[in-house]
Amino acid sequence: MNHSDQNSKQSKKKPWYADGLQFTCTQCGDCCSGEPGFVWVDQDEIDAMAEAMELSSAAFEKRFIRQVGTDRSLVEYPDGDCILLDPETRKCSVYQSRPIQCRTWPFWDSNLKTKRDWKETCEVCPGAGVGKVYSFEEIERARKEKSV
Ligand code: SF4
Repeated sequence: MNHSDQNSKQSKKKPWYADGLQFTCTQCGDCCSGEPGFVWVDQDEIDAMAEAMELSSAAFEKRFIRQVGTDRSLVEYPDGDCILLDPETRKCSVYQSRPIQCRTWPFWDSNLKTKRDWKETCEVCPGAGVGKVYSFEEIERARKEKSV
């Protein structure tokens, strides 16, 4: 086998999750809280969340968005909880208009890189690894929506 055959064979090799993965959200809110992190958003996502909260985009941005270098992220409470997570109900205040990064969890690049990464994801998210089976195509669609 020459090198180019070998390369094309490698590039055709499907990832370890080719048979699909399970996920059913229990709505526990853990992925929106805990360790500090970032939820990266663009203007369209800001506009959609602002509309859901019946605020102007400028007012929404002032209260809920922080600038990180050249990018923008949702503000967090000091304990790491997302600013849009209702502290009493533990539900997202803009669920129907939540950002892509939240919609595509747990099928992120970083969670799918290796089996071990997925195993760690299942340890922090009680919905990952159980319930509904997502096909390889569905996972890839989510993963490619945004690199996280
Ligand atoms: S941690 Fe998992 S199960 Fe809990 S709300 Fe987030 S996605 Fe759903």
